Amino acid sequence: VTPTTPPFDPRPLDVLRRIWGYDAFRGDQAEIIDTLVRGEDALVLMPTGGGKSLCYQVPALVRDGVGVVVSPLIALMQDQVDALAALGVRAGFLNSTQTPDERRQVEADLLDGTLDLLYLAPERLGVPSTLDLLGRARIALFAIDEAHCVSQWGHDFRPDYLRLSVLHERWPDVPRIALTATATSATRTEIAERLELTGARHFVASFDRPNIRYRIVGKDNPRAQLVDLLTNEHDGDAGIVYCLSRASVEQTAAHLVERGIPALPYHAGLDASVRARHQSRFLREDGLVMVATIAFGMGIDKPDVRFVAHLDLPKSVEGYYQETGRAGRDGAPATAWLAYGLADVVQQRRMIDSSEGDATHRRQLSAHLDAMLALCETVGCRRVQLLGYFGEESEPCGNCDTCLTPPRTWDGTVAAQKLLSTVVRLERERGQHFGAGHIIDILRGKETPRVRELGHSTLSTYGIGEDVSEAEWRGVVRQLLAQGLVGVDARGYSTLELTSLSAAVLTGERTVLMRHEEPRASRRPASGGG
Ligand code: ADP
Ligand code: ZN
Repeated sequence: VTPTTPPFDPRPLDVLRRIWGYDAFRGDQAEIIDTLVRGEDALVLMPTGGGKSLCYQVPALVRDGVGVVVSPLIALMQDQVDALAALGVRAGFLNSTQTPDERRQVEADLLDGTLDLLYLAPERLGVPSTLDLLGRARIALFAIDEAHCVSQWGHDFRPDYLRLSVLHERWPDVPRIALTATATSATRTEIAERLELTGARHFVASFDRPNIRYRIVGKDNPRAQLVDLLTNEHDGDAGIVYCLSRASVEQTAAHLVERGIPALPYHAGLDASVRARHQSRFLREDGLVMVATIAFGMGIDKPDVRFVAHLDLPKSVEGYYQETGRAGRDGAPATAWLAYGLADVVQQRRMIDSSEGDATHRRQLSAHLDAMLALCETVGCRRVQLLGYFGEESEPCGNCDTCLTPPRTWDGTVAAQKLLSTVVRLERERGQHFGAGHIIDILRGKETPRVRELGHSTLSTYGIGEDVSEAEWRGVVRQLLAQGLVGVDARGYSTLELTSLSAAVLTGERTVLMRHEEPRASRRPASGGG
């Protein structure tokens, strides 16, 4: 959008053109920068790649003094400072990775007034000498990057962020800007309160990333499915594959390498030096695939990541959005691909039920998972669902799997009743609980050794679900679990049990619309070949 009137203050645009060589500000940048230059506070929600850095870098250069940037991304500080130095901007950082000599040099530069920007790890603010040091410098502004780290319920909580209100208390006249790429309106309120930014102007950019094609597929053989995706659609592309566990990261990376796909592992169990080497190779070389836990990626600015693949279900929509947001920052088409199956739901429900922490915390985790599952199971547009979660209304996008190939649905009410009746019978008549596999065997009338041994062929529901395929039954269980219409045992077994919502299905008060399970072959693109 081109502003109809020129900005009141010509200096920011001049800095943008002179230092960065860009023609114009994007989106809300001009207004955000203007707010800070005038000495007011701002709270900025902008998706990854939206251009948050300039929002504090430009006003730091326009205003007198140094812009102090609080960031948890210690591993990236050197890169950020180098990139700024290449533009002729004088920047430095203070964090725990420095030698005392290096630190003294930065402190001297700061006091000499020769720094434009100072990056600070949040834990430095817990060191009284840091505050004294800042007290002796002239400060242009405070920028609090990754501001969602202040949220105790978020997945990136950093206790040091709770200390950041000290900035406002000690420097009430210095403008502050808090920035994040991840926040629902609840998190936004929490950020504003905890950082004492209640008077700040809010800038909420659209979270849509139109060039990302969202796809969520049924998981059957995830590694083979991943290799299909990479060889058929992303040959030679750089991308990120997220796995839940370190072991699965290692195995998946090895599997890709065996298939001739250049891949590197990244997780917190690797040596810091190995992690740093893999990260820098990923950033600098073309066409590498990083297989990682969610420890990887915060603040990674690699514009040409062509795909982000999830082999395990993310714990929240926020996490999913942030991780997939690392794809396609250059604006060119990119894929966000997630393989998701029954075992994911069972595992995560179980982890929540057996997790430490109080009931409120478990309810929070559960609500996060429910929103993620709703995204996985939706028969409508993924983007509408995703943006809706962030409070943004939109129209079906035409660039997600459900828009491109609308899922076929069926009335699964009777199937759900059959399944729930089996759970009820096992519980009431025999006092037994079983996992999905055995219950499906009963429904399909399969004479397995276990069925024979336990005499389950005499149950009245034995064989009443022969007309539905095993894959379709697994889909039924998954979708019932996703909607909370059946639950898993809280004691750590994967056995199914009724929930407070099951009764409405059993009595027919509630109908259940199901997605058909598509066989894997039909999900391959036609051009994929054999
Ligand atoms: P974020 O921190 O929001 O993820 P960045 O600040 O890293 O995003 O910006 C993403 C990319 O967009 C960077 O390469 C940046 O240089 C570029 N960029 C930001 N603002 C502009 C602009 N006004 N004009 C051109 N490029 C821009
Ligand atoms: Zn869509």
